[in-house]
Amino acid sequence: MSGTWWVSDAPCAGDWRFTPDDTSADALRSPMTRQLLKVCQDCPYRSRCIGLVLPRASKFDGICGGRLWFNGTVRDECEAAHPDDLIEDGSYIPHGTEAGARAHNRRGEPACPLCREAGRLAQARRRAKRRKRASD
Ligand code: SF4
Ligand SMILES: [Zn+2]
Repeated sequence: MSGTWWVSDAPCAGDWRFTPDDTSADALRSPMTRQLLKVCQDCPYRSRCIGLVLPRASKFDGICGGRLWFNGTVRDECEAAHPDDLIEDGSYIPHGTEAGARAHNRRGEPACPLCREAGRLAQARRRAKRRKRASD
């Protein structure tokens, strides 16, 4: 079981610049991106990061595992990048969705923060719907 305990310990924890809203090719090629890759340079979790995000399978845009990804292909990498980091095992998890929370569950690992929040919101929506039905 790989788990996601390391996510909060990673040097990028809580830094949303690694998964930017603007994923145009120009934005991803900005000087800031090079700075972010330097953060990955010393990260001990590069292969776990790739195993969690599955950037190729999920056609990821952003920084993951010491690489800059655009539509699931590597466009740049940190100096310490090693081919072994890139092994993607396991099936793709759609992070940030209730289905993602279920997929974490099937793997026997705690849901990542994004999936946990999505699961919580879905549950709240269902509860509200039930309340509304009961009061109709
Ligand atoms: S390799 Fe992944 S976990 Fe480590 S700093 Fe880079 S993006 Fe964050
Ligand atoms: Zn997740």
